[in-house]
Amino acid sequence: MNRAPSLSSVDYLLWTRLSMDFFPYAATPDDAEEHPVTEIPGDPACGVIVLCDHASNEIPPEYKALGLPEAQLARHIAYDIGAAGMTRALAEAFGAPALLTNFSRLLIDPNRGEDDPTLVMRISDGAVVPGNARVDHEEVARRIKRFYRPYDRAVQTTINSAMSKGVRPVILSIHSFTPVWRGTPRPWHTGILWAKDPRLSRPLIDRLGAEGDLVVGDNEPYNGALTGDVIDRHALANGLSNTLIEIRQDLITKAHDARAWGLRLAEVLRPLLEDPVHRLDYRSSTGSNA
Ligand SMILES: [Zn+2]
Repeated sequence: MNRAPSLSSVDYLLWTRLSMDFFPYAATPDDAEEHPVTEIPGDPACGVIVLCDHASNEIPPEYKALGLPEAQLARHIAYDIGAAGMTRALAEAFGAPALLTNFSRLLIDPNRGEDDPTLVMRISDGAVVPGNARVDHEEVARRIKRFYRPYDRAVQTTINSAMSKGVRPVILSIHSFTPVWRGTPRPWHTGILWAKDPRLSRPLIDRLGAEGDLVVGDNEPYNGALTGDVIDRHALANGLSNTLIEIRQDLITKAHDARAWGLRLAEVLRPLLEDPVHRLDYRSSTGSNA
């Protein structure tokens, strides 16, 4: 995930100039068969749900790639490189259900609240997104309905399915980050992000650190507390144990590396998840409303 890049005056100039030449809006084709979410079936009673909010760089053809050249769509601004492969490996290792988005976060970011100003990015890591420059409320509402809410509903439905079997699932949210941000190299191999519920993230940080070969970030390279993000909306709101795992993209660019990382994470997580503390409702166990 990326958070709140600032808008320099040069960026702004570029943005306004490009936005004059691009008219992106296209109504949803009536007969289009939409598949905004990939659902990997698993056993809801296994106690784990794996989420990948930024799995894909797909943009439906009528959006004309949001006016971006292909090279930009291959970058991290369009999706979390390697995250889908890790997610699939984790789901396989646990026999867990997993949900992956089939749309680029450049269209709309499902890991933001609906009222978050970065829900639809006009500029991302220095790249102007012409197809987003003139997005108005109606177009945002259209993208919310077409992409954002189907994913949001699928996450809650999967959680409800586990809860209906008497299981409080642990939520694993899988992301990746760039090795360099604005010229500064990032030292971490992995970053564990958390907000109000440290039950899983704290011991996971300790275990990963004990592996001996990893630089592990605690709420690095981002702070995990983001009102309205997926963890907030679905894990904290339901009192479910959770962690958000970020892996540096250069470690998982190749499919077999992403898979190996997913399987490695599963083995680190497995003994931690056996702790019955993860089956408690965090809100009632702490008296907090999380
Ligand atoms: Zn992400």
